[in-house]
Amino acid sequence: MSALPGIGRRTALRLVLHLLKRQEADFERFTSSLITLKKEVHYCRECHNISDTEVCNICSSPKRDRSTVCVVENIQDVMAIENTGQYNGLYHVLGGIISPMDGIGPQDLEIDSLATRAQNGEIKEVILALPTTAEGDTTNFVIYKRLQPTGVQVTQLARGVAVGSDLEYIDEMTLGKSILNRTVFQ
Ligand SMILES: [Zn+2]
Repeated sequence: MSALPGIGRRTALRLVLHLLKRQEADFERFTSSLITLKKEVHYCRECHNISDTEVCNICSSPKRDRSTVCVVENIQDVMAIENTGQYNGLYHVLGGIISPMDGIGPQDLEIDSLATRAQNGEIKEVILALPTTAEGDTTNFVIYKRLQPTGVQVTQLARGVAVGSDLEYIDEMTLGKSILNRTVFQ
């Protein structure tokens, strides 16, 4: 339990004691749902968002605008942008950002697959919605360079978003506005 993110030793102990007190049936339901989670939840073949089907709900929805793709660091960012209700395009989850300090390079992220998607002709705009940190800026630039030959327009969130902020901690109004007021990447 204490190996889980954000759970210290005291909280871990409290959780274990709580689980031990639960009825057998309750406990079995809990453990089997954890096993199901690991077995049945996959990553979408297209956008790498979490999904229980091969292609996620967003990628397979006929209501979404297939000409726009928003590039985010992780799945929490997809949720944050969905919560704004201001975006109707598709996503591309990188699975991190470039961070030489942590040994994460472009090849460790879903950048090649983004370039491949951008080449298919359907995509007209790629919105960069990465953190406004040095790592985020580096990643933006690498993606921009990769996408240049495809002729796809590259935009970024309006910089009303506070420097260094993770999308999941920005309030919905601000995030929604920064999507609507996005600017051409330069
Ligand atoms: Zn998807």
